[in-house]
Amino acid sequence: MKNPNGENKKIKILWLSGISCYGNIHSFFNYPHMEVFLEDFEFIYHPVLDSTFSLKEIVNETKECNILLIDGAISDDFHRADVNIKDIINRYATSVNRIVTVGTCATFGGIFKYSDFQSPRGLHFCGDELQTDFLHLRNKTISISGCPIQPEVLVNTLYEIKNQTDIKLDTFLRPKEYYAYTVHNGCTRNEYFEYKVDGHKFGELEGCLFYDHGCQAPYTAGSCNKILWNEQNSKTRSGSPCFGCTEYTFPKMSLYDTKKNMGIPQNLPLGVPKRAYLTIAGVTKAFSIQRLEKKLIDD
Ligand code: SF4
Ligand code: SF4
Repeated sequence: MKNPNGENKKIKILWLSGISCYGNIHSFFNYPHMEVFLEDFEFIYHPVLDSTFSLKEIVNETKECNILLIDGAISDDFHRADVNIKDIINRYATSVNRIVTVGTCATFGGIFKYSDFQSPRGLHFCGDELQTDFLHLRNKTISISGCPIQPEVLVNTLYEIKNQTDIKLDTFLRPKEYYAYTVHNGCTRNEYFEYKVDGHKFGELEGCLFYDHGCQAPYTAGSCNKILWNEQNSKTRSGSPCFGCTEYTFPKMSLYDTKKNMGIPQNLPLGVPKRAYLTIAGVTKAFSIQRLEKKLIDD
């Protein structure tokens, strides 16, 4: 976007934190090209970064703004600078082009839906339950779930908004470009998954973490194994099971455990019918592939 002098006009963003641990803010700071980003975007308010206005100025007067980012859960009794968070959202909601819920708390209520705040929830969902009080904002909202968000997914989405790209969304308003996959897609352990070779210890290079260690990646929407964290790695690549942090079910209890009935996982990967799974599992278990039973790198 250019102004009449042909200069790049920065997109104005308000980062509003609800009930939050600030994990999304820390994750955002890991974005490796922040200097370039700040040439194109300006924070009219950010809880940590230097910004144009103070929180008091933001909540008492309506400042010009293009995108409202909300991180953290919202609640009927949560205030920022003595103003109810729902009133602040409503103050900016009509004037901004887009609203982005940043993280699983702002999207689904996350861990705070179990807190003592009054009716803690995400902007549009509490778990998978649709909330109705912000229904009028649904057509301008994009959800970037994750605990925390992947900085590239947030920044890429902000550029897509800037460039007026037609962003296709799933039922939870998440961009399909990043959430149409499961985290299982792109994991370096896929071959172990297919041949039912389990990993024995966390942190090892070998084996899949699904059968015995509760890896949630086959049920979890996200790009963690396609867009690597810090451009380096992912949980499952490094040998830790995925916790399913992008989903409305987060936080799940009894992680690191795969519930089974007669050796068959209770929950099968998304879209896999039980009968087909049993047939394939029976066939693959019959293989004994030496290469997959050995250490990848010998001591
Ligand atoms: S470790 Fe998790 S993500 Fe990787 S192959 Fe196994 S189930 Fe899939
Ligand atoms: S691997 Fe799973 S738990 Fe880890 S960040 Fe990605 S979706 Fe969340």
